[in-house]
Order: sequence, then structure tokens, then C-alpha cells
Amino acid sequence: MSDRDGLIWLDGELVNWRDAKVHVLTHTLHYGMGVFEGVRAYNTAEGAAIFRLQEHTDRLFNSAHILGMKLPYSKAEVNEAQRAAVRENNLDSAYIRPMAFLGSEGMGLRADNLKVHLMVAAWEWPAYMGEDAKTQGIKIRTSSYTRHHVNITMCKAKANGNYMNSMLALREALDSGCEEALLLDNEGYVAEGSGENVFLVKDSVIYTPELTSCLDGITRRTIMEFSRNLGYEVREKRITRDEVYIADEAFFTGTAAEVLPIQSLDGRVIGAGHRGPVTEQLQSMYFEQVTGKRDYKPEWQTPVK
Ligand code: PMP
Repeated sequence: MSDRDGLIWLDGELVNWRDAKVHVLTHTLHYGMGVFEGVRAYNTAEGAAIFRLQEHTDRLFNSAHILGMKLPYSKAEVNEAQRAAVRENNLDSAYIRPMAFLGSEGMGLRADNLKVHLMVAAWEWPAYMGEDAKTQGIKIRTSSYTRHHVNITMCKAKANGNYMNSMLALREALDSGCEEALLLDNEGYVAEGSGENVFLVKDSVIYTPELTSCLDGITRRTIMEFSRNLGYEVREKRITRDEVYIADEAFFTGTAAEVLPIQSLDGRVIGAGHRGPVTEQLQSMYFEQVTGKRDYKPEWQTPVK
């Protein structure tokens, strides 16, 4: 990934992809104190447009605020950096990765007097789990790793260090022949996937865990809004793993994963064992929305040109 043509926005300017480097004593590399976003731009009639850019930028600033990092740019500048990263790489659609990290001015946990850097890269990233998964769904397992406790790491922050837990869970799931993990919170209730929020459908009601220990996903917000607009009741509540086993449908949501049906959990087939009708309806609304084919909320699209 580091050896390719293209440009990366780094600390206020676009630099060549191969030159976008940091020192080995970069503080965030050692302790994981950094914040990032995962954003997507889709090919629309007006060219590449970033979906819910402002909400992603707002979450980046909230994450930084939670960790006590002061970003040296305005939100408008960070929005522009993301537009530039897509536009200047001539991408029709893209995954966009802004990340703020601490510099190499000093080591140690005190982490004072360190420069806050910001980078934004953009590249093509097709369906996160492949095209088939969008209809067939994925096999998942309950993780042996507990999701973050609210007073251990900060669950409202999309913080670099939080993702060690996600990676351990995902690796365990992959090693056991599944495609994703379902993490439970410290009390044993369903929290989320390694990089996705989770939803269930049971008797035409849509359920998702409360925001206690899962990330406040922007796709989650979109799907909840669509569900209510379609007349479904949406309930945020504590969910147990066996409620997932007996759901009619289950799916993940996330910027990278989009709307992804879940075929089975721990070997128990969920519903029909492939994408169910409610998931299909919401998934197609989502793809029409992000590609600018619906009239609803045009302010969610930010063209890069
Ligand atoms: N949970 C976790 C842990 C995530 O990393 C993500 C991806 N950012 C999500 C949920 C989904 O969030 P969003 O829909 O904003 O991408």
C-alpha cells in the first residue's frame, strides 16, 4: 500500500504517496493514542460524492476531544482535505481515512508538548466482504474477547488503540472459519462487530443495542432513520446472543461494511440463512442513497469537485 502513485494530504498539503512518512518514534505508533475516521465517497451523477462528510468530521473532532487531543485545523479544513484526497487522486468512489496522531517530539505516557498531525488518504475499496456477502450474508461467531468497558477505553471515541480489541476478535473469528466476530459487552450483552453495528429483525420490529459500549455509527443512524421512515418500529435495547440466534434477520452496518446480512451466529442459522426481506429493503435504500439516486436528504452528499 505504501508503494504506489497518488497523493496523501498530510499536515496541510498534498504530498506524494511514497513520501507520506513518519519517524519510528512517532508517539501514536507506540501507545495507540490517536483518532481516525472511515468515510466513503460514491460515484453519483455529479461525480464522486462523500456520504455524510460533516457527521464523520464531527465524530473525528469529538473523538479528539474525548482523548484530549487538540486538532490544529478547523472542521471546514478537514472537510476540504477529504474532498481533496478523493479529487486529486481522480477517484470515482473511495474509502477515505483521516487520522490524527501525536508526533515524535518526545516519548512517555505524559504525552505533553507533542505536535498533533493529521493525514487523509483515499483509495478504492470495493465491498468489504465481497459482493456475494451482500446477498448470502456472512457467518459470524461470538467473540471470546469482551468489547471495551465504558470506563476502560472511551467507547464514543473512534480511537486507534481501541482497535486492538477489534483485531483480536476478528482474527479469532477468521481462524475459526467465520467471517466476522460479534462482541459482547462486559455484562454479556451484544455490543457490535469488530467494525460494525448490529441490527436484528424479529416480528417486523427492528432492534439494535443501545449506544453504551458500541460506536455511534453513522450508518446505524442512517438505517434507523430509514427504518422509521418505512414505518418499522426501531427499539434500542439490551440484546442477548440467543436473541440473535432466534431473530428473523440480522445484519451489520458500517461505512466499510455498508449493510451486510448475517447468515449464522455460532453455527445457528438465522432466519432463512441468507439476506431477509427487511435487510434487502434497507440495503437497497442505502445503496440508492449513497449513490445519489434518492431525493431524500441531498445534504448528505458532498461532491468532491
Ligand atoms: N463499530 C465499530 C467498532 C466501527 O469501527 C465502525 C466503523 N466506523 C462502526 C461500528 C460503524 O460506524 P460507521 O457506520 O460510522 O462507519
